[in-house]
Amino acid sequence: CGIVGYIGTQAATEILLSGLEKLEYRGYDSAGIATIWEGDISCVRAKGKLLNLRSKLEQIENPAQIGIGHTRWATHGKPEEHNAHPHMDTALRIAVVQNGIIENYRELREQLKKLGHEFRSETDTEVIPHLIAECLKNTVKNLTSPSVLLDAVREAVGKLEGAYAIAVISADFPDELIVVRQQAPLVIGFGQGEFFCASDTPAIVPYTRAVLPLENGEIGRLTPLGVEIYNFAGHRLKKHPRTLNWNP
Ligand code: GLU
Repeated sequence: CGIVGYIGTQAATEILLSGLEKLEYRGYDSAGIATIWEGDISCVRAKGKLLNLRSKLEQIENPAQIGIGHTRWATHGKPEEHNAHPHMDTALRIAVVQNGIIENYRELREQLKKLGHEFRSETDTEVIPHLIAECLKNTVKNLTSPSVLLDAVREAVGKLEGAYAIAVISADFPDELIVVRQQAPLVIGFGQGEFFCASDTPAIVPYTRAVLPLENGEIGRLTPLGVEIYNFAGHRLKKHPRTLNWNP
């Protein structure tokens, strides 16, 4: 129901948690955060209040500088910890959060299971990390594209039907955060050597007033060096952030 993401030079966990707190008004039944730390994805999830997630995270030392977070309002699969986001692929290398609904998840899930992917939840969302993993297997480095992960996410979203916003990280691409908007809100925030994404601006304004709302059919690639925006066909778009007038 709410998405946040961070890439930069500060510890991500607290920024993600406080961002999720700003999105609490959207309603939720569980929450979770995934970061990339020491070459692996660290994924922590909890049913119920954000306080439950916060107290779990407090027991873990994690200075990761990239991560994604989610508050969930269950549509497919009970509000239980194993259905909470982020969701991961079979090899636990890719983590995804989603706001919205993937309409064709049943057929995708069956196809992916036949290809050997192991599912751990009942959500519509879980097909996305598995699909990206499958696309990554077949993605050859394209010299005109800056990123294999971007290409794989773009190929994967080409197969999704529904209304969604997603954020993706991969332990194999620790300097990239990919976001997609298709009929659900997603805003990117531009800081100094750090970049943010969220379902709504209150999660971003404590850090920066320079924001760019994505439009439907757009993909953002956030790295510590900057933000690039593409359409689903892979063409780079010229987009610039605008400065918010915000009176808290
Ligand atoms: N449909 C997804 C789920 O049930 C996402 C719901 C949401 O936007 O929170 O996990």
